[in-house]
Amino acid sequence: MGHRAAAWLWLGMVACATGAGNRETAMTGLDQQELARRRAQFADVDITVDRGTIPPEDLEVLRPLLKAAAVMDRIFWKQASHDGMEVLQDLRKRTDPLGRLLAEYVEIHRGRFDRLEDHAPFYGTGKKPRGATFYPEDLTVEEFEAWIAAHPEDREDFLSPFTVIRRDGDRLKAIPYSEFYREDLEEAARWLLEAASKTRDPMLARFLRTRAEAFRTNDYFESDMAWMDLHSGPPEVSSALEVVIGPYEVYEDGLMNLKASFEAFVTLRDAAESHKLQAVAGLLDEMEAALPVDDRHKNFSRGKSSPIAVVQVIFTSGDTAAGVQTTAFNLPNDERVRTAKGSKKVLLKNVGEAKFRRSLIPIARTLLDPALQDRISFDAYFNFILMHEVSHGLGPGVLALPGGGTTTVNLALKETYSGIEECKADVLGVLNALFLVRKGLLPREVEAAMGPTYLAGIFRSIRFGVTEAHGIANMIQYNWLREQGVVTWDDRQTLHIDLGRYEDSLRQLARRLLTIQAEGDYEGARRMLDTYGSMPDEVRKALARLSTVPVDIRPRYPLAEALMRE
Ligand SMILES: [Zn+2]
Repeated sequence: MGHRAAAWLWLGMVACATGAGNRETAMTGLDQQELARRRAQFADVDITVDRGTIPPEDLEVLRPLLKAAAVMDRIFWKQASHDGMEVLQDLRKRTDPLGRLLAEYVEIHRGRFDRLEDHAPFYGTGKKPRGATFYPEDLTVEEFEAWIAAHPEDREDFLSPFTVIRRDGDRLKAIPYSEFYREDLEEAARWLLEAASKTRDPMLARFLRTRAEAFRTNDYFESDMAWMDLHSGPPEVSSALEVVIGPYEVYEDGLMNLKASFEAFVTLRDAAESHKLQAVAGLLDEMEAALPVDDRHKNFSRGKSSPIAVVQVIFTSGDTAAGVQTTAFNLPNDERVRTAKGSKKVLLKNVGEAKFRRSLIPIARTLLDPALQDRISFDAYFNFILMHEVSHGLGPGVLALPGGGTTTVNLALKETYSGIEECKADVLGVLNALFLVRKGLLPREVEAAMGPTYLAGIFRSIRFGVTEAHGIANMIQYNWLREQGVVTWDDRQTLHIDLGRYEDSLRQLARRLLTIQAEGDYEGARRMLDTYGSMPDEVRKALARLSTVPVDIRPRYPLAEALMRE
């Protein structure tokens, strides 16, 4: 037995029905060369922070905190699959090149299923259950829903993000995480309490204590509220740490998108960026006034939008550390907390920089006119992303209906909303970053770098497909700039952008998008997506030339590892 001892890999078992009930199983071998190719999609990088920039008190908090974060990883391995950790331990005993490759790839994906290949197994046999380990493997959505319908008293526990579902004889039951992962969560709670005892920051201490309590009681509400209050205490005792730890996202639950996975982000606030963001906050009305749209569509009554924080990652674990790495998140997910306190957007600057170096630069080297390649800069890339996020908070939001009453852009544009909104945020992201240069808030070099950096960024985004909002949004921008002759290909198949005209062209696109939003023009939005949203052959060919450019990074955390050993 044992798929684990096999000297080759299985891409998966495909069961195909040929005729009535006649099933045959085809198996496709995955050889070392293919595995090496897949492994090379993830470029190894060190993600770290200069130790000298961390206040001594925060260093003391970090040691126990990192241990709690490591426990989140252990729980996530168990959530993702029944055999992940066991497979890894077996593979780590092997000394042959294939065994080592496999161990690394299992570690990247936190299990033997490839997250870039829709969770197809790359080692061993047997498919990953859609509901990972959150439910009995044979449970269907219908059975789950039928149980709730027949047992309304179970409804709340079954729908909780913080329970697993198991069979008990012929019954189904919900087990709280606090019970199911008790030993791990008890250990994590102890580390969090130790960390809390080492900080003078009352807000951080409160978050860590209430989160430790949540690990024991399974009630996360109060600690999510406390998380929103971090950094709102007296500045003289305010910690520079920004910590996320616990069960958050529900992506791993492919059956119901209901159950939350454990993860941690241990990060340090970037002081210079925070300073800049404060200045940006003071310019929001001026940016709104400068939007390329009729004055009557300008919106100065937007409520406080979500705060944005820029951080440097020291360590991540669990859900977020598996497969493709997160560069930004928006938490918490609990709607009750969002209603009471809003949510917080956090951008991970050093992770963004690693991805920039390992994939954006090679994309630019492959596709762009050599004269443009030298202009690419991380500063331009990062400020574009930052202003993309800020720009989500600009422009039309609530719309007046002709017959009285109100609606929102979101409701009026229906399924076209996300694509149009992401496109708006990208286009305004460029325009507003240039606006900040002219205000003296960003260096002049950002202006020179923006055009080519933005163009390479479009290809980075559409590599992942144009079926979801960000992909469509980038496709619209590319096709728009192509139609206007701002972006061109020469006969050596290199890409150019007319630096004298692209800003004006984007301003025209912004006017279209903002007017569609302001008028709640669903038909106009649909036309925009249909006209500009699909991928032309020239782009398909260009993407084929990027096949050896890493898709993502595989981070190592030297500072965190050192601190955990101390
Ligand atoms: Zn966005």
